[in-house]
Amino acid sequence: MKKEDIVKLVESDRFIPGIYNYCDRWCERCPQTMRCLNYSMIDKHCGPDAEKYDLTNEIFWQKLAEMLKLTMEMVRDTALEMGVDLDSMIDGPDAGATGPEAGKNVVHLIVHLAKHYADQIDVWFQRDPYGIETQSTKPHLHVLGSAEQQDEVSVRDAVEVIRWYQHQINVKLCRALDSAGKELDESIEEFPIDADGSAKVALIGIDRSISAWGVLLKLFPDSKADILEHIRLLQNLRTRVDSAFPKARSFARPGFVDN
Ligand code: SF4
Repeated sequence: MKKEDIVKLVESDRFIPGIYNYCDRWCERCPQTMRCLNYSMIDKHCGPDAEKYDLTNEIFWQKLAEMLKLTMEMVRDTALEMGVDLDSMIDGPDAGATGPEAGKNVVHLIVHLAKHYADQIDVWFQRDPYGIETQSTKPHLHVLGSAEQQDEVSVRDAVEVIRWYQHQINVKLCRALDSAGKELDESIEEFPIDADGSAKVALIGIDRSISAWGVLLKLFPDSKADILEHIRLLQNLRTRVDSAFPKARSFARPGFVDN
């Protein structure tokens, strides 16, 4: 891109300042590429179809968000059937610590759970006993298969969502915890804080991953014990992050409507 084109872009008023600070960096799935200066500077695909792609992505994420409640109901029913307690809290490596160490426990546990989830998913997909990831590379494999239902979230979509957020959840939580320590020292209470913004991106990744696992749970009943375990980890993590960052859910991410 030429220097004058960059200057023109920077001066344009179509961009939302700082939109890329609290996004998930998944530009191919982003509903706001047209409002993102970063994207316009690095990507060649801001062509005539850009608006259509943004809208398609917006619809996709809305669909996944709407699925969360139903997914949790289905997951709870399945868990009950299998005698799995989804809400039982998972202990970390330093559970039972006392004194100052106990205060650090919550931090350790969040990082431990997020890392454990990411590793567990790698192992599971490597094993992939039911060929889920292999199947997901086939185009047009939709939840219920028929053309009329192609607007459903497909296996391919679900696997992509899980894979995208798998490690990012941990990265965002590490940043949130790191920022929380610094921001506490600086005492800037009246401003939205970076820790909440980063925790919110992690929470969005957790919620979307749970919905995506719900799609796989429905389609691959033979894997339900494993899938429930992945969801149990995410559910544990979600509860702990919500509790450690109570303002994260209401953090207003510039340019996104999930605020
Ligand atoms: S806001 Fe969207 S387009 Fe911009 S960097 Fe983030 S994900 Fe990519």
